[in-house]
Amino acid sequence: MARTLRATDFTLEYVADLLQKQGVLTDDARRTAFARENVQRARLLRDQASRSGGRALRRAELSPVEILASFKFVDASREGEDVDEDKATQAIARAVGLPYRKIDPLKLDAQLITRTLSRPFARRHAVLPVEKKQGVLVVATANPFDRELFENLRGLTGADIEPVLSAPSDIHRAIAEVYGFRQQISDASVQLQAGPSADVTNLEQFVNLTGIDALEASSEPVVAAVEYLLHYAFEQRASDIHIEPRREESIIRMRIDGVLHPIHRIPKAVHGAMANRFKIMSRLDIAVKRPQDGRIRTARGDTEMELRVSTIPTTFGDKIVVRVLDPQVLVRDLSELGFLPDERDAFERWLLRPHGLVLVTGPTGSGKTTTLYSALQALASPEVNVVTIEDPIEMVLEDFNQIAANPKTGTGFADALRHVLRQDPDVVMVGEVRDGETAAQAVQAALTGHMVLTTLHTNDTIGAIARLRDLGVPGFLVAATLTGVVAQRLVRQVCPSCASDVPLTADEVHALGVPHPEDHAGKLVARRGQGCVKCRHTGFYGRSGIFEVLAVNPRLRHLIAEGATPEVLQRTARQDGLRSLREHAIRKVASGATSFEEAMRATADIEGSP
Ligand SMILES: [Zn+2]
Repeated sequence: MARTLRATDFTLEYVADLLQKQGVLTDDARRTAFARENVQRARLLRDQASRSGGRALRRAELSPVEILASFKFVDASREGEDVDEDKATQAIARAVGLPYRKIDPLKLDAQLITRTLSRPFARRHAVLPVEKKQGVLVVATANPFDRELFENLRGLTGADIEPVLSAPSDIHRAIAEVYGFRQQISDASVQLQAGPSADVTNLEQFVNLTGIDALEASSEPVVAAVEYLLHYAFEQRASDIHIEPRREESIIRMRIDGVLHPIHRIPKAVHGAMANRFKIMSRLDIAVKRPQDGRIRTARGDTEMELRVSTIPTTFGDKIVVRVLDPQVLVRDLSELGFLPDERDAFERWLLRPHGLVLVTGPTGSGKTTTLYSALQALASPEVNVVTIEDPIEMVLEDFNQIAANPKTGTGFADALRHVLRQDPDVVMVGEVRDGETAAQAVQAALTGHMVLTTLHTNDTIGAIARLRDLGVPGFLVAATLTGVVAQRLVRQVCPSCASDVPLTADEVHALGVPHPEDHAGKLVARRGQGCVKCRHTGFYGRSGIFEVLAVNPRLRHLIAEGATPEVLQRTARQDGLRSLREHAIRKVASGATSFEEAMRATADIEGSP
């Protein structure tokens, strides 16, 4: 190299030239980047300022990597991919001979970070200590040429500095998370030990999330800590947050794709204050010492979110569980639920009928509510009156008229349904049929010209027919009203970032029920995630439904009316093409959407059925 590069040599020109030489950026894109660099920088700064409530940002200059990635250029070397920060950073790392490191928020050493550097220093230089080993401090940085920074750090810490390259946005996010959340927890801890003057219960109620950048010293520490926690949960796509008091400290865990991950430990002293903060936000009584349920409405960007908060007193304090109800997850387009094309066609046909009974079955947590909400959303229009009766109302949605049933206070599903039918709705969703009276009412409603959707707690579709009869509905009425039954489960989807092909063994092929397994062993290939930062080393990213879809055809209708046994119904349905949950899952394995193990796990409870 002719001369040593300096921090100021790390420019958009340097990065764009490099990417073009590596074949990632076209010459066109490179020129666009140069021409629009200043405009783009100004736009990004404006966006940041508005996110932080107009405050000036005391952070590093925008990195050329951030500016380049914001153009979202198409990667000329890999079809269907954009040039994002990770990709640009990896390319730079290759060119300058430094290791690239993807920052895993779960693996950050908060103590090392907060003890090594002050927050302003970390922000100003976009630098993050990630590891200390035998007198060497490994720091993540975005600028590979910032020798002055490395010298400074050596002077500050007395350690040798080993730089690794990371995406600038990841570095800033980690700085906000570590210094923000930890700092607030530690401030809160000090404040609470100082005495009762710091009474968080007197805080006014506001549920407008401020945005990470604006959460600074002006906020009450506990308020800020709770907001950090919520932002983090949204960002990680968590469906639940658990705050569990133990004897010495509290554990915060989050459920992501169905699996709980430990996220933080917080001191005992702060737990009560955080619990109270959640209670105040959800309008619960902080003095009450019994289980309570409340809701918080808030927004993430343009999307309105709902948080359902439940508190249970335990020996060591209130256990808090927050369910994150994201409308974009809970109500989807019917094409996104995971139906195979013929199943979706059948399901949509049922919904278009003017009246009838559609059942969705499966255990708790199998995605029934998402299926029902998505179906209702597809039906709702100014001309179609959709009413739901739920216990409790899962999520408040404007397009439906939602009524809360509450058997404990005497308004059961059956009473609510009787009431609703007087107002002549077109479509009625009954949260769950648990008793004979509700079953009779639901069938009656379907018989008198309404489309009724509801759930039953049975394992498969034929089981639902048997269950209705057990609840006292005569076979001829089931036959007269039942349009179709969907049984479902959720399977985790293979993480696209780390998926690879794995040949199935003879045993696995046998478990799939494929004839002559020995002929196929090693030839049938499934996908499996190897585990990466994006999927938190689980190999899975997101979930999707698997379904058994039973359309009640004339032959089946006749048998149901005659009171045929479940075995006869099952055999007939199979002859007419009923595909079991396991068979559906196998198709998902074959298409690479889920893994062999996950398909087996999700259908283990119905094993033995064909
Ligand atoms: Zn992955």
